[in-house]
Amino acid sequence: NSLKKYFPITGGVFGREKGEVKAVDDVSFYVKKGETLGIVGESGCGKSTTGRLLMRLIDASDGRIVFEDKEITSLSTSELRKIRRDIQMVFQDPYASLNPRHSIEQILEEPLIVHGIGTREERRKRVKEMLEVVGLCSYHAKRYPHQFSGGQRQRIGIAKALMTKPKLIIADEPVSALDVSIQAQVLNLMKDIQKEFQLTYIFISHDLGVVRHISDRVGVMYLGRIIELAAGEELYDNPKHPYTQALLSAIPIPDPDVKKKTIIIEGELPSPANPPSGCAFHTRCTQSMDICKATRPIERNLNGHYVACHLYNE
Ligand code: SF4
Ligand code: MG
Repeated sequence: NSLKKYFPITGGVFGREKGEVKAVDDVSFYVKKGETLGIVGESGCGKSTTGRLLMRLIDASDGRIVFEDKEITSLSTSELRKIRRDIQMVFQDPYASLNPRHSIEQILEEPLIVHGIGTREERRKRVKEMLEVVGLCSYHAKRYPHQFSGGQRQRIGIAKALMTKPKLIIADEPVSALDVSIQAQVLNLMKDIQKEFQLTYIFISHDLGVVRHISDRVGVMYLGRIIELAAGEELYDNPKHPYTQALLSAIPIPDPDVKKKTIIIEGELPSPANPPSGCAFHTRCTQSMDICKATRPIERNLNGHYVACHLYNE
């Protein structure tokens, strides 16, 4: 089916840890309660799709998603509604998800109304609380989205995601549309909120630098697959996959004394609909070997550092 073709989410072996989400291709992944899993890759690599699959905004063609020991891939619409309280999304462009004709109060109240939570009074009380949690004032409730700056709008987007008291937040490029100076503020806010409400994050971004600040573990995606996944520091200090190495080499180092060789990734990103045979990265990899074209590398677990590349065959 076409979904499978574009979104190669195929079955795999899925682990069983508590309170997490697992999905995507042969590399299953999970998120532990309270941690942040970063997912990085170029646009078109499937990271947003992964987020939407986890939300069941779109259906997976194959494979399983497990949330708190419950498989959500096969849930009915009414069962899904309950899960949707627990899993919320924060988007890149909060403006697009904030109805311009609704006041902030109406916007924040909406998820509660949808889920039938609370009386009007209780809902409005929570609106004010959440505005304060994200660093805005309760008098902002009567204003409209256009009266806020980009950074403030993303704070409102975060407040909206918090309204239903979720456990997991999937943030898709949440700071990519913001100025660099504002990015740090919003990232810090997200970290504070995570601690305060014991949230679990899946943080999706094309920007390895941004992901580094917030993630406990990081997965790198290429053409619909996670090609490397490791604890944050391990991945940044010791990248194993040639694609990750190239991505990291392109991040500027603040210290001018540190010299770094930039590896250029040549060529275009191949179409996800028709990925190259074998290792999907072989068309752009400087270390490509004969086997890379013919055989898809299986992922190796090197002491908890997962990598799918023939350079690491035994
Ligand atoms: Fe490069 Fe081959 Fe490794 Fe793919 S499997 S990243 S082509 S060396
Ligand atoms: Mg995207």
